[in-house]
Amino acid sequence: MAREIYLDNSATTRCFPEVVALMDRIYLEEYGNPSSLHHKGVEAEREIRSAKEILADILKCSPRNLYFTSCGTESDNISLIGGALANQRDGKHIITTKIEHPAILETCKYLASQGFEITYLPVDADGLVSPEDVKNAVREDTILVSVMHTNNEIGALEPIAEIGKAIKEKNPKTLFHVDAVQGFGKSLIHPKQMKIDLLSASGHKIHAPKGVGLLYIGDGVRVRNILFGGGQQNGMRSGTENVAGIAGMALAAKMLYDHLDEEMDRLYEMKQRFIDQATKIDGVHVNGKTGRDSAPHVISLSIEGVRAEVLLHALEEKNIYVSAGSACSSNRPHISETLLAIGTPKEYLDSTLRFSTSVMNTDEDMDDAAAALAELLPFLRKYTRQ
Ligand code: PLP
Repeated sequence: MAREIYLDNSATTRCFPEVVALMDRIYLEEYGNPSSLHHKGVEAEREIRSAKEILADILKCSPRNLYFTSCGTESDNISLIGGALANQRDGKHIITTKIEHPAILETCKYLASQGFEITYLPVDADGLVSPEDVKNAVREDTILVSVMHTNNEIGALEPIAEIGKAIKEKNPKTLFHVDAVQGFGKSLIHPKQMKIDLLSASGHKIHAPKGVGLLYIGDGVRVRNILFGGGQQNGMRSGTENVAGIAGMALAAKMLYDHLDEEMDRLYEMKQRFIDQATKIDGVHVNGKTGRDSAPHVISLSIEGVRAEVLLHALEEKNIYVSAGSACSSNRPHISETLLAIGTPKEYLDSTLRFSTSVMNTDEDMDDAAAALAELLPFLRKYTRQ
């Protein structure tokens, strides 16, 4: 069997071994409940405090702004539902975009069923939201705007700082939520400076485990808790904290941010190297922007004459793992909202693959994946026509 080439890092990542070692120690030695008053509890609580300090340093905020959840989806849900419930006296209008992850789009559908009015902003052919459009859409009764930092399907980098400025110029009371699940660990994100009130991130996208998410809530931002129970985390998120996961997420984030510039340079080079080789093959097109105007780790290719799922499994035979469209939501076949929103031709909707890298990938991975595409495509296209 060929060596494994994992290019589905936007779906999830492999844990850093250092993270696993730290979690192992916490599971086996510092296994106390952080709410317990005895020494084992204090030890666990110290791990959480130290994780908060590391993450606060990265986000340039205070540790008191940070809450831990179970995943990016939960952070998105608390931000939108909790933000909407706490601010509904000021209005019931919410703005988001057509290319958000289902964690946002489905939550908006729920809020619409509860009487909130949702505006879905369009994007251009590269998946970008216009700050001007945001400004025009914000009204007196707009309580929340939610825009993703990095699109998970085509790697569009949204102009978050400009959008933050546009919102606050039009209505300083409107909250700004950013789903940074794909951007955290790859970009410098400073909520205060970007006028972000609420921010979501997720552990398993940054070489930490599944089951831990991060939520930033700015000072003075009103959010109602949506979980009820023991009152942990100032009542904002009841439930015993995932101490090992939290510590693991902080360590993974520190490892990424300590070498961010050089590692992101390397990812951009790998991305370009792969695109150069893949687009030499007939009928292979890149979706969205490339280079520094795009995410370093997401490459979306539309491939003429072959169904994505067929190609995905043919690559799998070679021990190469990729996604069809955005397979990070579920394994139900669905039409990608992002591809529709950027005006992808109908014939490509079902023949688009996402290759997503991480700091664990190498040039050799990209060369081998591109070579596999070049080898498989003529064969699969002939087979598809029969
Ligand atoms: N938001 C975006 C942009 C994502 O890509 C994902 C996961 O793929 C999520 C939210 C959900 O994160 P989680 O899997 O941690 O719930």
